[in-house]
Amino acid sequence: MTCDNLRLAFAVRFWALCAVMTMAILTLPICVSAQTPATETFQRDPKQAIDESYTQLIRKYTTAPALNSPLTDYLPASGSVPTPAKVLGDVAGAPDVLPYAEEVYTYFRLLAAASPRVKVFTNGHSEEGREMIAVAVADASLLAQAKENGARLAQLADPRSLHMDDAKAQALIGQSFPVYYITGTIHSPETGAPTALMELAYRLAVDNAPYVQYIRSHIITLITPVVEVDGRDRMVDIYKWHKAHPGQNWPRLVYWGHYVAHDNNRDAMGMTLELTKNVLNTYLEWHAQVLHDLHESVPFLYDNTVGDGPYNSWIDPILTDEWSMLASDNMARMQSFGMPGAFTHGNFDTWSPGYLMFLAGLHNGISRLYETFGNGGADTEKRVLSPGEYSRTWYRPNPPYPTVLWSQRDNNNYEETALLSTLSYFAHNAKFFLNNFYLKSKRSVEKPGNAGPAAYVLAQDDRAWNRQMQLLRVLALQHVEIQRLTQAATVALPPPSRKDGEEPKPGTPPPPSSQTFPAGSFIIRMDQPFSRVADALLDRQFWSPEDPQKTPYDDTGWSFGDLFNAKVSRVTDRAILSAPMSPVPDLSQIPAAEVGPGPFYVVNNSAQVSLASLVYALQGSADVSICEENFETAGRKFAAGSLIIGRVEGSRLKPLLQQFDLAAVSIATQPSVKVHSAAAPRIAFMHTWLSTQTEGWWRMAFDKLHVPFAYISTQAVSKEADLRSKYDVIVFAPVAHTSARQIVDGLPMWGNALPWQTSSLTPNLGKLDSTEDLRPGLSEAGVAHLKDFVQQGGLLITSEDTAEFAIEEGLTPGVFVAPRKTLKVIGSVLNSVVVDNKHPVAYGYDGAVPLYSADGLAFTVSNLTVNRNILTAKEYKRPTGRGGPDDEDAPEGRPAEKAPPLPAPKAWQATPLNEEQERNNPFLIPAEYRPQVILRYAAVKDLLLSGLLENGDPVAEHPAVVQAHFGKGDVLLFANNPVYRGETVGAYALVFNSIINFGHLK
Ligand SMILES: [Zn+2]
Repeated sequence: MTCDNLRLAFAVRFWALCAVMTMAILTLPICVSAQTPATETFQRDPKQAIDESYTQLIRKYTTAPALNSPLTDYLPASGSVPTPAKVLGDVAGAPDVLPYAEEVYTYFRLLAAASPRVKVFTNGHSEEGREMIAVAVADASLLAQAKENGARLAQLADPRSLHMDDAKAQALIGQSFPVYYITGTIHSPETGAPTALMELAYRLAVDNAPYVQYIRSHIITLITPVVEVDGRDRMVDIYKWHKAHPGQNWPRLVYWGHYVAHDNNRDAMGMTLELTKNVLNTYLEWHAQVLHDLHESVPFLYDNTVGDGPYNSWIDPILTDEWSMLASDNMARMQSFGMPGAFTHGNFDTWSPGYLMFLAGLHNGISRLYETFGNGGADTEKRVLSPGEYSRTWYRPNPPYPTVLWSQRDNNNYEETALLSTLSYFAHNAKFFLNNFYLKSKRSVEKPGNAGPAAYVLAQDDRAWNRQMQLLRVLALQHVEIQRLTQAATVALPPPSRKDGEEPKPGTPPPPSSQTFPAGSFIIRMDQPFSRVADALLDRQFWSPEDPQKTPYDDTGWSFGDLFNAKVSRVTDRAILSAPMSPVPDLSQIPAAEVGPGPFYVVNNSAQVSLASLVYALQGSADVSICEENFETAGRKFAAGSLIIGRVEGSRLKPLLQQFDLAAVSIATQPSVKVHSAAAPRIAFMHTWLSTQTEGWWRMAFDKLHVPFAYISTQAVSKEADLRSKYDVIVFAPVAHTSARQIVDGLPMWGNALPWQTSSLTPNLGKLDSTEDLRPGLSEAGVAHLKDFVQQGGLLITSEDTAEFAIEEGLTPGVFVAPRKTLKVIGSVLNSVVVDNKHPVAYGYDGAVPLYSADGLAFTVSNLTVNRNILTAKEYKRPTGRGGPDDEDAPEGRPAEKAPPLPAPKAWQATPLNEEQERNNPFLIPAEYRPQVILRYAAVKDLLLSGLLENGDPVAEHPAVVQAHFGKGDVLLFANNPVYRGETVGAYALVFNSIINFGHLK
């Protein structure tokens, strides 16, 4: 099953127990207390008829009575409102029925046409242009007041508008009703939610049971039935292919969304995907209190809202108690219905805020998530669980069955029952949760005076401007308010943190006690309603190696200032809030600098993300060269790698500079500095058919930066003998968690072919790329073609597992993977240092470069093609003899001969060989073919910036970015992933520098 639990581990931990204990310490609101309607039982309205045929089918498709509840084991009848059967031709969750998004929407629109309790809105479109919708369900009187109610909620969401006046807030709370937002099927192979949500909406609109009436008269339930709408349609195609080919294996869903697969649920920080923006905008436009995301992977219903520690450090403590309250009541209801396998503790830690639901957690709402059980389609299947899934444990006293016949209807029963019961609890406590919503918003505004900091500052800095813009755009997408200093401002700095007993060295000047930020610096004030999300993104993270939680669920560090290579200052001095500043409502309205008369223009290289964008945009219509040394002209200093542009009108250049967040200096004469022509090479982007998940982030970055490429598969490379005639650069982005063997072999060839093609049965497949059979890999022929490509002068760009592939296939003489030993890195931000600042890949960088490392991969380099150890001074241990451990031994009876010193290379250097070792050595790499180390990881004491690092020696000081030489061409190897989740913007230029300097990398 595709699931959210990539790092699944079912260890029971003491930490989880602590989470239970927090339930006992519920935060007291000002004047509204939570009710405890646990005694309320569900009873149908005896006056309302049942839809007998629908109800019979519910019972038929439910595989065991215990897998349903009184809430959903029938369907109330309506004379006017259509049931899901109207569109599905069967009941929700029926076997073999999996509707496309458009069919789901058709039903919701029929429902809205028939019931005044339902309204449908468009909340945006996907990358491929498919619609996303939001459906509001409540009493007609509530829907009629939705706008006025929204205006009241907006005031609670921004207590500055109430002058932080609790009495005014209470009056608004008294008049208002909350909004509970439910999102379905972000993960395309998790297929049950759309039909469950269709039927849930019908029940909420039609059922006259007091239980349901209470919900719809006290809250608005907002539903987005399909979040990943591109992936849903592909998944339905696959399912239809499967049903048309009984007895055969069916293709895997190699593409979900246009760019990424399950990582679409890791975008709540970077905000790169349309679905993330659409959900956040909808959530905030409605001023919803909850965002509840539906998944399938864990039997039978894991309400992972409580999950396990460590919890995210930037959320309001009120939220952690809300999680416990909601989940505790929800699971109590499920137990009261006797439904097995419902629980709320488990392995999911609540540290990373990258999940879709966390959009609410960091915007003063409540994030929730269900993992239910699903079969990846609508087949009814016998499922065999693992002991970790069915064992009874303290948090799962009524566990799932070891084996179960499971249907999509069972899934829908669980999803609807759990949702209805939690909506009921939420409705009965509507005022309590509204008050908490206000309190969390107010406390976010009060952050500078409480936890702090006062603000984050991005100092006015021409060199960082381009990357600052990328970072500020993310904050703007998060609806964070941005301001700009209109005058310089000085703030006091906190005293430096110093380890116990560590005294400053004599003679060292005292550290500065204040800092001045120039006018134009960007200020992210913490006295705003969404201060928490800014704080969570801009602060640094520390995951202790001693933490009881040993299996982090996702990345442990993400500090955006580091990853965007854009310094952010965490300012605790509240004086910053009084500095003269003005709001920046729209970053795109910041005017570009004037470009001047020319005829030449210089764009300084400061590792901007978009120099390649400019080079490709000007390709053929201007002369663009790249300087190879630092130079000065017109009183300005320019770094090696800067672009010198001629034969272009300033009027043509200016909009491009504005589009790409660049600035140019006009000069009258061409500077006398060594240059080469900027390259706009022909790029092929090679993907496997094993997984397109991680390469998708690279593809997205290239698209957004308008760097063109041909998209080809490893199968195409296996058939194309002359790659070099077509391409200059082949980008082989990480596949993630795969081996060189699998890249070459693909999937086993027994069984049937697995097509990924457009057909009348599968109209949504085969658009990005297609194949008649997913199984074949790169093949040995493809490896040979790649080798020919590089040998004939091509550049192959690799990262993480594709770098390991290049090493294993012999494309990188003298580069090896550093042994990891006891190293532990899990999605951390590590520091690196430029080794070769004349190398074009490092143009624009100076000093330290923060890198994202998934698991601590690092390289070693050698002057030999074989990974043979050559004794170094560090490894040498003296023999038994005279003197002490550091003395030299001396033989008796003759004078001692001085031995030649053993080599003492750094961890990032190759060990030099002596003449004895070099003599007639066939493995010796000629000097001009030896690998060049461009970046290395920092020393162990400086290595960790954010996240988890344990036993860092195997990565410390080791090569991180290396250029290997193979024939006439080159292989660029990244131990880090430089293009990841829209978060590693600071490292993008390492990739794009290599592209625009193609042909000049040696
Ligand atoms: Zn999922």
